[in-house]
Amino acid sequence: MPAAFPDFRLGTVLATSFTATLTERRGDSVERIPVPQRLADWLAVSGLAVESCTDEQLELARELRESIHAAATAAALQEPLPAAAVEIINARSAQGQASAVLTPDGKRRWQLNSPTAVEDALGVIAADAISIISGERDGKLALCASPTCQAAFFDTSQSRTRRWCDMNTCGNRQKKARFNANRAAAK
Ligand SMILES: [Zn+2]
Repeated sequence: MPAAFPDFRLGTVLATSFTATLTERRGDSVERIPVPQRLADWLAVSGLAVESCTDEQLELARELRESIHAAATAAALQEPLPAAAVEIINARSAQGQASAVLTPDGKRRWQLNSPTAVEDALGVIAADAISIISGERDGKLALCASPTCQAAFFDTSQSRTRRWCDMNTCGNRQKKARFNANRAAAK
């Protein structure tokens, strides 16, 4: 992996791990899938490995990503879902033809059809987004408290009081900022 490409922010929820391939959306944004190969890399580490990925498929993926981001943000704010975003999520979900496969050791694996693997993978991601936006899954959509991020994330904590999309990045930075502010005030 060339060092020139930013690393991934992987979470436990597929759809919001996917939207986190663009971070710091309200600040100096970082595109983590700048080229088709990086989308292929992301899909591989997310259990949706494909053999190849074209520029057009990367465009399709980014369009889905931004649609999930828009719809999840609206859901977190309890606002009406943007119709264009819903349309794209549904189109990708309908286009995907991945099959869920049960492995001998009792795990779920996704089986993609080789010529359309990227579209199939996007279908799995779209369906995952539908399950969290619809409120079907146990958890709550919320927006990251970091002002330069504000990413929609899926809070599965028992108290539903998680504040940051990612404790190791946004959470940590916020804590450091508060620590520095307190130190400055104490001087
Ligand atoms: Zn964040």
